[in-house]
Order: sequence, then structure tokens, then C-alpha cells
Amino acid sequence: MTNFKFEEISRILCENQRFAVLSHVRPDGDALGSQLAMALSLLELEKEVRVWNEDGMLEKYSFLPRAELLTKPPSVPEDVDVAIALDTAIQNRLGTALAAVRSAKIWINIDHHLSNPGYGNVVYVDPAAPATAEIVFRLIRSQALPFNRDIAENLYAAISTDTGSFQYPKTTAHTLEIAAQLIRAGLDVGRLNRHLYENYPRRRLELLRELLRTMRFECGGRVASFSLSLKAASELGVIPEDNEGLIDHLRAIRGVIVAIFFEELADGKVRVSMRSKSDAVNVCAICQKFGGGGHTLAAGARVRGKLSEVQKKVLEEVSEALQSHS
Ligand code: 5GP
Ligand code: MN
Repeated sequence: MTNFKFEEISRILCENQRFAVLSHVRPDGDALGSQLAMALSLLELEKEVRVWNEDGMLEKYSFLPRAELLTKPPSVPEDVDVAIALDTAIQNRLGTALAAVRSAKIWINIDHHLSNPGYGNVVYVDPAAPATAEIVFRLIRSQALPFNRDIAENLYAAISTDTGSFQYPKTTAHTLEIAAQLIRAGLDVGRLNRHLYENYPRRRLELLRELLRTMRFECGGRVASFSLSLKAASELGVIPEDNEGLIDHLRAIRGVIVAIFFEELADGKVRVSMRSKSDAVNVCAICQKFGGGGHTLAAGARVRGKLSEVQKKVLEEVSEALQSHS
């Protein structure tokens, strides 16, 4: 699959008027920051822009510049000229935001997931990019599309969160050069990082305490997992956004190669979130066996079944993948 050229994408952005900028359900910082940055650039071009996410703006990212632009999609579909899906590996993960677009002449798919099949008319998928926001930055800057401090702040938050604060292996010199350019646009790194990493609700730490209580190890300590039941989630009053990043506590343990988080969902499924510390253990491939996807080192799936059943099935697959690894 060959990517479209940024020149071609830019031409489409300039030549059309009505846009819907979308990203995946249960969005993360990369999804929301990329959406707002893309939308703000288009607004500067005097376009009509809808910025929709099934979950709306998350409480913890509501400090992002112009966060109010991002809303839940309307129940009555609207016509747009161009729909842009950002950070979304499969089109279905747009959820109700997909249903809200009645007709779009052109679908643009900009993403960094290895498992993205390349849906849409205009595709730019770069699995080497550590964040979708890095691609959005390259598109905006290479084509001299509107850029300002609000856009920079959204992109910085997106890249920082998707790289684990510039730690994960896909972080390159280029990523840090982009970060430098974003800082030069006038953003306040200290203030932004305080909002991102030093402003958690107490609930999040209470959730972590519960997860650590359930922590277990398999395969001689190379697999670590923890789980959250619906009952515990409701007792703690947690909301979905509370758990982003908590799996990193498992990944951070010496000797652990695969970290797994099992979360029981209300629809009879279990959300499985997986991280790997070795290129030789591709968790995207493991999650694809369960209908999910993602990146080589970070992937997920939603698996039908009881929490304990899903745990057993998934741990078996992981253990098999590790056997061929060693
Ligand atoms: P997380 O564990 O943070 O929810 O997701 C890690 C990565 O796996 C993300 O890049 C996300 O897009 C992908 N991912 C998570 N859950 C699913 C899923 O149910 N289906 C697919 N296709 N990808 C997922
Ligand atoms: Mn991303």
C-alpha cells in the first residue's frame, strides 16, 4: 500500500469546504490532540469543521486549547465533503462518529497503526510514526497549512502521551526535533506537563491500588497481568479514562516482557490491553487472533466471554508466543 503524498492531501483540504474530523472510541491523548490540531488548522482556512468523537471530550483532556470544539456526534447524520479519520486502525472504531457522517465525497485515513488495512479514498498510514500527531505535524508544516500555538499545544500533548513522555522505542531524533519546534511555537512545557501528568483524580490511584491487588505473574515472571471486574469498577466509581497508562506499571517491572490488563465490560466482553517490551513478541499479532489490533508493542482487543475465561484463553496464547520467542 502506497501512501498519498502530503501535496495531494493538502490540495483536498484546500479545495473542499465541509469537514468532519474524527477519531476512535475510547480516545487517548493522540486521538483527541490530533483531532483538535487538524480541526484548528482547517478552521484557520475558514472551513466548516465538525470535530466528533463517540465519547466526546474527556474530562482529563478538557484543558487542551479549544477543547470545546470536540463534541459527541449528533444523532441525526450530517453531510460533509470530507471525513478525516485520525489514529483509527479500523473504520468501525469510529463508533457513532462514523454513523454521524451521512455522505462524504472523500474519506481520508491518517494513522500510525500497523494493523490499519488502508480504508478510505486517501490513505496515509505510517507505522513507524510514534503518534498520529507526528504525521499531522508533518502534513501541516510541509504544506505550510495554518499553524499556531494552540495547534502546537494539542500536537505536543498527543505526541507526549503516545510516546509515554518520549520514552517508547519509536521515539526518534525526529520526534524530539518536532517537540522542539512545537515548544518554539510558544507552548509552556511545564504547565502542559502538569495538566497531563500531575493532575490525576484520586480515583485513578484508588483504581491502581485495586489493580495491583489482582496482579499476577506467569511464564517465570515474563508475563504480568492485572484485571478489573465490573463490580470493583462500580464500587470505585471509575470512569473509562481513568485507566489510560496504568498498564505501564506492569511493563516497568524487571523481567516482564508482556503486560496485560483485563477489563470486564458491561456488554459481555472483556477489554484486553497488551504491551510488549520485545520486538520478538508481537502483541498486535496476538490481539488480531482475538479480533483486535494495534501496534507491535501495544495492542488491544475486545473479547466476548467471562473475565476468567478470557484471561485463560489470552494467557495461553501469550505463553505460546513466548515459547517460540525464547
Ligand atoms: P490500549 O491498550 O491503550 O487501549 O490500546 C493500545 C493500542 O491497541 C492502541 O493503539 C489501539 O488502537 C489498539 N487497540 C486497542 N483496543 C483495540 C481493539 O479492540 N481493536 C483494535 N483493532 N485495536 C485496538
Ligand atoms: Mn496513536
